[in-house]
Amino acid sequence: MKIIAYSVRKDELQYFEKFAEQFGIEYATTSKDLNTETVKLAEGFDAVSSYTSSEELNDVWEPLSKMGISYFTVRTAGYDGIDIEKAKSFGIKISNVPQYSPSAIAEFAVALSLATLRKIPLCLSRAKNQNFSVNNLMGRELNTITIGIIGTGHIGLTTAKVFKAFGAKIIAYDTFENPQAQNILEYKSLDEVFAESDLISLHIPLTSENRHIINAESIAKMKDGVVVINTARGGHVNSEDLRDALVSGKVAAAGLDVFEHEKSLIRKDLSGKIIEDSVYRDLANLPNVIITPHVAFNTDVAVQNMVKMSTENLISFKNAGTTDNEITK
Ligand code: NAD
Repeated sequence: MKIIAYSVRKDELQYFEKFAEQFGIEYATTSKDLNTETVKLAEGFDAVSSYTSSEELNDVWEPLSKMGISYFTVRTAGYDGIDIEKAKSFGIKISNVPQYSPSAIAEFAVALSLATLRKIPLCLSRAKNQNFSVNNLMGRELNTITIGIIGTGHIGLTTAKVFKAFGAKIIAYDTFENPQAQNILEYKSLDEVFAESDLISLHIPLTSENRHIINAESIAKMKDGVVVINTARGGHVNSEDLRDALVSGKVAAAGLDVFEHEKSLIRKDLSGKIIEDSVYRDLANLPNVIITPHVAFNTDVAVQNMVKMSTENLISFKNAGTTDNEITK
């Protein structure tokens, strides 16, 4: 089997080599993203692997099908840009990697929570500047606060367990109540989670229904001084509304691994450049905001699993016509 993998980072290469050998397949890799220009590189391959799942992919289903390629995988859990019906109409079968390491994201969400609650960036810059005053550095303890988890699937439930180990009270909202969450958290309505949480952590996939689930209206329902953590998708948060609430003090702090308009920023080195997006600039300059470059997934275990499981998906498409992780069923 011959597979071409797009958007391959240097740190992923070792895993493509490892699993090509282990599964007895041929892998070609490119750092280029898949789009209508680069799709021609797929000519002669049996299947395609992509790291991104942006809307541009919907323009490659037709050229791929013309090349006789119908097996496609993303190496991520999220696939919010993909138009599944359009892909199906061209006979493309698509899979994702739903559980490459829920702990990778969960632990990062908790790290962002601790960093915002204990004002770690401010502590670091003070010490670096030889300012050893502790004024305005008072933090809050996880064991004294209520955490609101929105979305209690693989990542949300794992996050809840880690917060629970710190002694926090956990409440949660999900459209589907996870039976494994019994003894770990208490389900509440979304409005109750907004009203009762000291810190809200998002763990839902992005859909048209939950876009901007955090906006001026929902923030108004939250406690004064709430902390917002987003490691899910940028589109869940109306970033202008969040900025305004951070400036007014309604929201005490935010930890954002994902950003609503990250498309023009993600995976690029823009060091020294002026970023056009003024909302991003405002957020990045606020002392009570931590922004990280969509990196919550990025652990050794997770990246290895992303390559391994996506490869298994494609092999299963070839051998069995489907995989447990097919999203086009
Ligand atoms: P999952 O499918 O296991 O769980 C999602 C949960 O959200 C489910 O329990 C579902 O019932 C619930 N849900 C869906 N829509 C909802 C809504 N409108 N309101 C309340 N609950 C809702 O998914 P997961 O593996 O836990 O991943 C969650 C999300 O995390 C992914 O979709 C992805 O966007 C994000 N993610 C981010 C990174 C990163 O690096 N920052 C990495 C992986 C995943």
